[in-house]
Parts: sequence; structure tokens; C-alpha cells
Amino acid sequence: MASVASTIQLIQLNGQRNSQSESICDPDLTHEPWDFDALAPTYGPGASVLDPIPSNAPRQGTLPREYRELPPEVLEARIRAAKETLGDRLLILGHFYQRDEVVRHADYVGDSLQLAQVTSTRPSAEAIVFCGVHFMAETADILTRPDQAVILPNLAAGCSMADMADLDSVEQCWEQLEEVYGTELDVQGRQPILPVTYINSSAALKAFCGRHGGVVCTSSNARTVLDWAFERGQRVLFFPDQHLGRNTAKAMGIPLRQMPTWDPRKRLGGNTPETLRDARVLLWHGFCSVHKRFSVEQISHARAAHPGVRVIVHPECPMDVVDAADEAGSTDYIRKAIEAAPAGTTFAVGTEINLVRRLATQHPDKTIFSLDPVICPCSTMYRIHPGYLAWVLEALVRGEVLNRIVVPDRVAQNARIALGRMLALNSAPTVQAPEPAFAAPEPVTA
Ligand code: SF4
Repeated sequence: MASVASTIQLIQLNGQRNSQSESICDPDLTHEPWDFDALAPTYGPGASVLDPIPSNAPRQGTLPREYRELPPEVLEARIRAAKETLGDRLLILGHFYQRDEVVRHADYVGDSLQLAQVTSTRPSAEAIVFCGVHFMAETADILTRPDQAVILPNLAAGCSMADMADLDSVEQCWEQLEEVYGTELDVQGRQPILPVTYINSSAALKAFCGRHGGVVCTSSNARTVLDWAFERGQRVLFFPDQHLGRNTAKAMGIPLRQMPTWDPRKRLGGNTPETLRDARVLLWHGFCSVHKRFSVEQISHARAAHPGVRVIVHPECPMDVVDAADEAGSTDYIRKAIEAAPAGTTFAVGTEINLVRRLATQHPDKTIFSLDPVICPCSTMYRIHPGYLAWVLEALVRGEVLNRIVVPDRVAQNARIALGRMLALNSAPTVQAPEPAFAAPEPVTA
């Protein structure tokens, strides 16, 4: 069986090794994902020590031995056979950050919202297998019909950033903010504060936003959403990703002193009432373990080694990195910017390695490499191994639905309100259908 290590060990970009030294961020990445299923809950390699898996996170049971031991080519063939048998009744979705040996089976590849939206183009699909992480499957469940089953092949595929803001902590924060701000609307009819959640959050937090006049945003539309929010709120509580919030608000001209960070472990988030009263955006203390690895030093190295390089990073990166880059944007923005660039352009990219590698393969006329010489994929996304995909698909062929993600009705209703507010904005991402949002890679010889 190909290990995670064998998948990531020889990342060659445009036929040449990354000029900087290559290593992986954690030796545990050499283990197969099922090695972690039997251990105490943890996000495993790549995640920060500050982001332990919540005790109420869904647990993956033991993957049957057969699926752990099948050679890659047999797994590949069995996935294809199950897919063919299920035909239009099945839709497989693959996130941009997913490993190639899974993504190649996807009907559509895209970002989390694109994939959730694409479900509406396939009403015949009874089962939607989401090869992403838990919050993405939840969003898909919220936006699909009750008779469509959304399946996450490995329940341990969570998102450490999403779990940095849980409902209890956000509700406690809200109570404290109401003590400081009160609940009266101002003369323009604006709430004292309005919640905005990044789509990388639990359904419970999307529902919280729905209940409190708030909204969901993505990395593509965060600025438009914040403009909308400031028409309805004097201030914004932005969670869970401080970096997306800070980078977006800064680009809107909001000074840093009016963007305090909210630390959920401290009274008033670690702020004084005066700081909170002066704030425009309160930034929850969350971050992405993958994107926070990028640094200004890496950008300097890239510029020194590749004069004329275009540095393009994701807005989940820290502010100093976004400031030092030539441009910043969502995964879809990065993909389109690279596509549109003339042949011969060199890109240093600050986002998840699977996407960077795929872009490099798809654009052999350009030089594309990761800013980070240390290979550190999203460790939770990596939990979706072809073995888990084969397991859930073959169960579907037998008429058995495994690992179904179901958002309770009362949560889904309010979450749909917050998602609907975002989707009503013009800049909401659109799905490219019927063609895959992003071409799935061809199989590679093991
Ligand atoms: S890349 Fe970061 S934000 Fe995206 S799923 Fe992984 S941990 Fe979560």
C-alpha cells in the first residue's frame, strides 16, 4: 500500500526538485491514516499543538483490514467498479487539497462552497461522497435535499481551524459583548455587533450567525460580506480565522488597533471594555495550521532564488506574509491567476501542497513551487485515503450507507439562513458545471 510518505516524498515541480531542501513537517506523516484511528483523538501530524481534536468530534471506527491491505491498483479498480455500478445515483466531490489518488475519482473538484453548490446540478444523486473535511460535508448536507445522503469517507477528517471556535465559547463571547455593547440598534438601525463566520466552521456556528443577523463568508467573498455586515452592524465578530479577518479588514482600510483579537480563554477575550468599544472587527483567535507555516523569510528566499517570481498566497496566511506577497486570494483565485499567466511565469505559492503540486503538473509551461520547502499537507484532509473511499462506495453498492453526516433540522434551518445571506450577494462563488470545476488528475503508476 502506498503510504502518505510515498505520496509526498518526491514532489517534483516541473520536472525539477524544489531548489530548497525537502523534508516533511512531521515524521508521523509516513504512517497510514488508519494508524491514527485506534489512538486517542488527535489531529495528528501537521496540526498545531494548540488545536487538539474536540472530545465531541465524530470518531472513525476501525477500517476493515481488507481495505488497509489492498494494493493501490486493486483499490483503484474497485473504486472505479463501484462508481460504475452506482452510476448517476452517486456523486463524488473532491476538495482542491485532497490527495491525487482520491481526487482522480471525483466528479467535481473545487473549494468547499463550490462543491456544496454543485450538488444542485445533480438531483439524481442519492449519495454524495465528500472527499474533504467535516464542515464541508455539513455544508453540503445543509444545501441538499433530505433524501440525499452526504458521506464523509473518514470521520476523523475534521478541520483544526474550524474546531478552534465551538458554539459554547462563541455564545459566552456573545454574552460578554452584549454586556459591553448592549443590544440597542443605533440611529441607522445597525446592531452593536454582527457575527460573520468563515465557511470553515461547524454548522452550529453557521446557525448562530443565522440566529443573530449574521452571515457566512468564504475566502473569495470575505470583503463583499464584510461590506454587507457593516451596513447592518456597527462592528463585526469574525470567526474562526483571525488571518482571513485581519487581511480582509486591513485591505478595507480598518486600522489594526480597531481589530483586537478575542482569546476565548480570557475574560472579554483578553481586552479592556474601552478597546472593545473602539473595535470595528473582533478577530477570533483561530488559524489554519497549514497556512500559518508560510513566512516572510520564505518569500525573501524565493525572490532571491527566482528573480521576477510572482508570490501568490492564500489569505489564511499571516498578515505579514500577505503584505510581503505580490497577491493574495482564495484557492480558486490562485488557480485562475496561474492559468491566466503567460508561459514562462514563475510562481511561488503559499497554499496547501497538494494543490500546488497539481497546478505545477497541469502547467508545465510555468515554474510553480511551494513557498515552504517543508512539505506539510493538510493532515486532516489526508485522512481520506482511497481505502476509506473504497469502503464507503462498496457499502453503497450493497445498499448500506456508512459515515453519513446529518445536520439536525433546527441547526440546518438557521445555518441555511446565514448561508443564504451570503449566496444572495453577487460575489458568491459560482460552480462551473457540467465540467469538473477543476480537472481531476489522471491515475499515476504506483
Ligand atoms: S487546510 Fe487548514 S483550514 Fe483547510 S481543512 Fe486543512 S486545517 Fe482546515
